[in-house]
Amino acid sequence: MSQKIDVVVIGAGPGGYVAAIKAAQLGLSTVCIEKYTNEEGRLALGGTCLNVGCIPSKALLDSSRKFYEARDSFAIHGISHTSIAIDVPAMVGRKANIIKSLTFGVTALFKANGVVSIQGHGKLISGKKVEITKPDGSVKVIEADNIVLAPGSRPISIPLAIIDHNVIVDSTDALEFQTIPKRLGVLGAGAIGLELGSVWCRLGARVTILEAMDTFLMTADAAVSQEAYKALTEQGLDIRLGARVVSLTVNDKEVIVTYTDQEGKQTIIFDKLIVAVGRSPMTIDLLASDSGVNIDDRGFIQVDDYCATTVPGVYAIGDVVRGMMLAHKASEEGIMVVERIKGHKTKINYDLIPSIIYTHPEIAWVGKNEQQLKAKGAKVNVGIFPFIASGRAIAANDTHGFVKVIADVKTDRVLGVHVIGSSAAELVQQGAIGMEFGTSAEDLSKIVFPHPTLSEALHEAALAVNGGAIHIANRNKLQAK
Ligand code: FAD
Ligand code: AMP
Repeated sequence: MSQKIDVVVIGAGPGGYVAAIKAAQLGLSTVCIEKYTNEEGRLALGGTCLNVGCIPSKALLDSSRKFYEARDSFAIHGISHTSIAIDVPAMVGRKANIIKSLTFGVTALFKANGVVSIQGHGKLISGKKVEITKPDGSVKVIEADNIVLAPGSRPISIPLAIIDHNVIVDSTDALEFQTIPKRLGVLGAGAIGLELGSVWCRLGARVTILEAMDTFLMTADAAVSQEAYKALTEQGLDIRLGARVVSLTVNDKEVIVTYTDQEGKQTIIFDKLIVAVGRSPMTIDLLASDSGVNIDDRGFIQVDDYCATTVPGVYAIGDVVRGMMLAHKASEEGIMVVERIKGHKTKINYDLIPSIIYTHPEIAWVGKNEQQLKAKGAKVNVGIFPFIASGRAIAANDTHGFVKVIADVKTDRVLGVHVIGSSAAELVQQGAIGMEFGTSAEDLSKIVFPHPTLSEALHEAALAVNGGAIHIANRNKLQAK
């Protein structure tokens, strides 16, 4: 390939592959470079999300949830069974098949859209060129008018807990356990730690989560994090806050963890310890020293609001740049960058990116929480509707949690929607759509919601903002109009 390419993308995760497809759709000649190979040694597109992140974790969450329900909550429906068992290799095998079909799907989409995929390690060198080192060691350089860096992130490792992929493991290893660990430790009570802890806890592992912070789920609305703590603890997750690990001793089969908390020094032994203390941007051997692209002091590639780096024509998107490490954020950045290359004025509303934790109850929110708003001096009305009052939730025997809508006192504009409960992510997205169009709580409350649905809880919470909920007693006084 000697000609100049319109767009070269490094990395085929949800940032890179979406950018590449959109670029090709817009008529730009597009090459996407990816180095990841699966256990069969074959190039697998889709990045962290499809191979070792969003999708595999959700596959195991769904399987383990079915097992948990069959074991613990079928009786109330009148369903009985004499025995129930989980075949862990079959469960993990199902997950592997899902990954295979989805990563193959991205390859097919590349073909259908005319994206050229090259297997190898990509590196930005000066003069808007990319050096590709192929698996056989050969090196090729291609020149592009535009380069999109989408190399993603990798798990943070901490010096105290070196990953040995046996006893001390990372999130990728924890998606591959072939047996249920009896005593499972998790370092970090973020989204990844809680999701993986939930999977193995539902299957019977005794799970202890050690979280360094004193507050649980600091970025969530306080009412949501309190409810989440209660629900997850009831399910058997032993979440220990303010736990600072001071030493780890590993032998072949177990790890002895010493940590300090409010009560002093504690020791606990695990068969496996998942380190889930966050992820760091992946920039190893990505940029030649004279590439001109800057990295900030936390290791992220520096970009402006439109993902442009300091080098004209070079962009960076997804986990490697500031902001939340989420697949949907990476994909939207990919689309924004490519549309801007084509001359459109596309922007992302970074204030309305939904956050989700796929535990059960699920946790999701969009916009600001009550604490953030009050800290800024905002005057807000809050409407809460608990699922215990939802006919659909009661029919499903799944009544944990609530919907909380927060609106400005003066304008009634919705500033945040926070949900803990079944299908929280789907409900929050309804709020996000409204918020994108500047909805007021009253607007939301005047939309007809189907009955019986969980989404009626959003309707009722919006009504409750101004004291008009029908199916609960209102805490706010009705704003008569
Ligand atoms: P990635 O998906 O990391 O893709 C980057 C790709 O670039 C990789 O394939 C890598 O091999 C390749 N690459 C890197 N460097 C080079 C190079 N020099 N040359 C060639 N190729 C290169 N997010 C959600 O939104 N929802 C979830 O439910 C969710 N669950 C998660 C669960 C787990 C266990 C984990 C680990 C993450 C989860 N995430 C979730 C986060 C999500 O996976 C990431 O935010 C998302 O994948 C980031 O997309 P990206 O395109 O920036 O990078
Ligand atoms: P996230 O950034 O959402 O993936 O969550 C990672 C979680 O790990 C956060 O809640 C951090 O407070 C927590 N964390 C970070 N370092 C440690 C550590 N050394 N021990 C326990 N928890 C940690």
